[in-house]
Amino acid sequence: MRVGIIGAGIGGLCAAVGLHRAGAEVTVFEQAPSVRAGGSGISVFGNGLRALDAIGVGDVFREISSSEAARFTGGQRRPDGAWLKTFPADAITELRVVDREPLHEILLSPLPGSAVRTEAKVTAVSPAGSVSWSDGSGAQQSEDFDLVIAADGIGSRVRRSFQSDPGIAYSGYSAWRGITRHPIDLDGEAGETWGTRKRFGIVPLKGGYVYWFAVLSVAEGHRFADNHAALREHFGGWHAPIAELIEATDADRIGYQPISDLGGRLPSYTRGRIALLGDAAHAMTPNLGQGGGQAMEDAATITALLAPIAGSQAAPERAVADALTRYDKLRVKRTQSIAARSRVGGQLAHAPGKGLTGARDLLLKATPTAALRKQLTSIQGWRPPSS
Ligand SMILES: Cc1cc2nc3c(=O)[nH]c(=O)nc-3n(C[C@H](O)[C@H](O)[C@H](O)COP(=O)(O)OP(=O)(O)OC[C@H]3O[C@@H](n4cnc5c(N)ncnc54)[C@H](O)[C@@H]3O)c2cc1C
Repeated sequence: MRVGIIGAGIGGLCAAVGLHRAGAEVTVFEQAPSVRAGGSGISVFGNGLRALDAIGVGDVFREISSSEAARFTGGQRRPDGAWLKTFPADAITELRVVDREPLHEILLSPLPGSAVRTEAKVTAVSPAGSVSWSDGSGAQQSEDFDLVIAADGIGSRVRRSFQSDPGIAYSGYSAWRGITRHPIDLDGEAGETWGTRKRFGIVPLKGGYVYWFAVLSVAEGHRFADNHAALREHFGGWHAPIAELIEATDADRIGYQPISDLGGRLPSYTRGRIALLGDAAHAMTPNLGQGGGQAMEDAATITALLAPIAGSQAAPERAVADALTRYDKLRVKRTQSIAARSRVGGQLAHAPGKGLTGARDLLLKATPTAALRKQLTSIQGWRPPSS
């Protein structure tokens, strides 16, 4: 069968790899001139790892990623460094962290070169499976597919064509992300540090390099003239090695972006021969580190559901429709529940005012470890459906 995939982000590439391996003829349309992941790191928990195993790239992912974060003490600290809550070590044993660029490389490498078209901006998709796009010269073209997977990110043009599109909602906070230019000794401690309406996250990468993020409550659209100066002002006085991490990161390796999720829930991720996947379907705040993991799960799920017909010359409409009905059943509830939990986590972390910060810290300290373990394992214990 022929599958058109819009977007060469983590979600689109995972779907392309899985379906290509299952025997489908895949074409990926990417509007950018090259397939790039953008800087920074990404945490992948056990659920994402099993999805990568299911599409056949789990072993190579283990080689390029670091498992150190799972052995470090993690959880939430106060700005003076005192731990408020530590993660139960047995609940995050599979956590791995990777620089996004090599992750993109291992997802691209199993695909034939002709499968990925860059400078191919999709302008319209019909429920019958027709994709219209403009190439680098601006010329309009169109092509028909048995299935179109829209993995075109949070701003998805395809999702906007769904009547029930809830649109995008700004969370109230924006984030910087960076990777240090040299290894830094973290003394076995990582995780997040929570202040009043701001927090800083530390994540070890392979070779001692450190991926960090800093999140601040700011008005939507606010920009800083000098990222280093803003980071120093807000986090420079926090516990070691936060100031050192900021100074050890080159300005061109620091990214800044508003954090948003979807303004409501889509009742279905499918329409005719179209399936939404990844952030296009369920963009979530990054508080649980699950946006990419859920895109990987979507890709592994759709691969398993289509595997029986992927290698056929032309997929019967009925078989595609049945697979998409099951895709909705398996993905809508789970992803929206995780997105909702992630949003609440962000609201808690950014509790307004000093008084509420104190109450939040007390709540965090009082959270039973068993409840935390249950929450973590309910997300990470996911397994792909059998084909
Ligand atoms: C600060 C931050 C930290 C995060 N940390 C984590 C983490 O630790 N773990 C985790 O699992 N997730 C994390 N996430 C979430 C994760 O980054 C996203 O969920 C994931 O990257 C989404 O992938 P995607 O493929 O769905 O979309 P995207 O990565 O947005 O890819 C969409 C692609 O589609 C292309 N495109 C868009 N429109 C068109 C068009 N019309 N035609 C052709 N191409 C088009 C775009 O150019 C892009 O390449 C984090 C997110 C943020 C913001």
